[in-house]
Amino acid sequence: VAAADPGRMALVEVAPAGSALTGAARTDRRWTYGELLADAERAAAWLGSRFSPGEHVAVWAPNVPEWVILQYGAALAGVVLVTANPALREAELEYVLRQSRSVGVVHVDAFRGTDMAAIVAGVRGRLPDLRETVSFTGWAEHIRGTAARQLPRVRPGDPMQIQYTSGTTGFPKGAVLHHRGMVTNASYVLARAGFPRGGVWATALPLFHTAGCGLSVLGTAWFGGTLVLVQSFVPELVLGALQEWRADLFAGVPAMYSALLAYPGFDGFDLSGCRILASGGDAVPAALVEAAERRFGARFTTVYGQTELSPILAQTGTDDGVADRRETTGRPLWQAEVKIVDGAGAVLPVGVEGEILARGYQVMHGYFAMPEATAAAVDADGWLRTGDLGVMDGRGFLRVTGRLKDMIIRGGENIYPREIELALAGHPGVAGAAVLGVPDPEWGEQVAAVIVPAGPVPAAAELHAHLRAVLAPHKTPRHWYVADAIPANAMGKVQKFVLRERIGAGELAVLA
Ligand code: ATP
Repeated sequence: VAAADPGRMALVEVAPAGSALTGAARTDRRWTYGELLADAERAAAWLGSRFSPGEHVAVWAPNVPEWVILQYGAALAGVVLVTANPALREAELEYVLRQSRSVGVVHVDAFRGTDMAAIVAGVRGRLPDLRETVSFTGWAEHIRGTAARQLPRVRPGDPMQIQYTSGTTGFPKGAVLHHRGMVTNASYVLARAGFPRGGVWATALPLFHTAGCGLSVLGTAWFGGTLVLVQSFVPELVLGALQEWRADLFAGVPAMYSALLAYPGFDGFDLSGCRILASGGDAVPAALVEAAERRFGARFTTVYGQTELSPILAQTGTDDGVADRRETTGRPLWQAEVKIVDGAGAVLPVGVEGEILARGYQVMHGYFAMPEATAAAVDADGWLRTGDLGVMDGRGFLRVTGRLKDMIIRGGENIYPREIELALAGHPGVAGAAVLGVPDPEWGEQVAAVIVPAGPVPAAAELHAHLRAVLAPHKTPRHWYVADAIPANAMGKVQKFVLRERIGAGELAVLA
C-alpha cells in the first residue's frame, strides 16, 4: 500500500486528555502509509542496531501508535515481540521478562497512575538477560535519526511474537506465534466480516492481545485501510472516533457493547458509517447481537478463537442468516480443520457436545521453553486442544457451549484462578482458597474467592490489598466468602461446581 498509495491514511491516534504518552493534552497524531513504512523501517534499523534477529524484546504499553511502529519494525528486523499487558504488576512483569528471556523492554513511563518507568528500572537489576530498557517518550522522534540498515531475511514461519496466556498451572505460558499465522488469520477474519478495501476500523481492543496487534493492525493494513487507534475504552472516545472517521467497523468484547449501548449519549452520535460490528473473546449473547445490530444499524460478525490459534478459528459472516448470526459462532475459517472429540479423543457425530480441537496454518509453534505444556496442548499430529466445549451442526456451524479449563472471562480478559489461589496461599491468614467465576450482568463473569481461615478470619480489605500488590487489578476478587473447608473429590480435585452452587444458594458466609 505504501508503494502504490503512500498518501493514504494508515494510522490515527485517538487519545484522551491525560494520555499515557503526552500527559495532559489530548493528542491525535496521524501517519499515512508512506510515513508509517518510513517509521517502521527506522524502527527496524534502530532495533537492528541493538538486537539480533530472533531475540526477544518486550513491549509494555497501552494502545499508542508507537506500539504499532515497533510491531512493524520488529517484523522487519526479525525481532520477536513479547507483548505484555500494561496492567501487570511488578512481579508479573518480572516473570514474563524472565520466562521469555527478553533482552529489551520498550515501555511508556506511566499509565493509569502506575510509575512503569520505576518498575522497569526495578526489575532490570534482577534480570541478567535484560540489556536495554527504552521509554516510548520521545522514541518516535529519536528513531528518525537512525541510519538505514540492511534488513535480515524473515520467513513466514519465523516467530513473530510471544503472547502470555497464563494457564491452569498458575504460571503464564508464552504462546509463540508466527508471521504466517497472524497475517493470514487477520486477512481471513476481515474478509469474512465483509471489510471493504480502504475501509476504516476504529478499535479500542488492546494491542497486547492478538485481536489488537493481529486482527486490527494487520487486517486493516491487508485491506489498505485506516486504523483509528483509541488509547483506552471510554464510550465517548470510541463513539466520537466512529463518528468522526465514519468507521466501517467497530470490534469489542461483549462488555464493551453493553457499555456503549448503555451510554446515555449514544443516540447523539452519527454512526451511519458503521456497517460492521464484531465481537468475541467470550460468549456473545443473542440479545446483545440483536440490540447492537438494531441500535447501530449494522451487521454483526461473531468470532471464536484463542491466542494459541493466532487467534480466530470460527466466525459468522455478515451475510449469514439472522439465526446463525445470533445463535452460533459461525463456520471455521478457511484452511482450518476442526473436530469435536470425547474424553478419549474419538471424533463425535454432528450435534453432540465435546471438546473443540483445531489444526492448521494458524496453530502456535508452542509455548516458549515449556515443552511439557506444549505437548499437552498440541498433539503429534498438530491438533490443538482448545479446552472449550462445542457442538457442530450438519452445515458446519459451531456453537461454543462451555469450558473444560478452569478459567474466568471477565469483560473479555481471561483470568486463571490458579494464579490467584497461589497468591492467596501466600497470606498467613489463609489456610485454603478456591477462586471461581460467578455470573455478572455487566462483566459476564466476576471473580469470587472462597477462603478457609488459618486462625482469626482476615478482613476482605486486607486480602484485597495483599493481592493488589502482586496481581493486575482485574484479577482481584470482587466477592469474598468464608467456608470451613474447600470441597474436593476422592482424588483431591477441588469441586468448584459445589462452591458455585453454595454461593448461588446463599449458603456461604460473606467475608466482610
Ligand atoms: P485475544 O488473543 O485477543 O485475547 P481471544 O479472547 O479470542 O483473543 P484468548 O484470550 O486466548 O483469546 O481467549 C480464548 C478463550 O475465550 C477461548 O478458549 C474461549 O474459552 C473464550 N472465547 C473466545 N471467543 C468466544 C466466543 N465467541 N464464544 C465463547 N467463548 C469464547
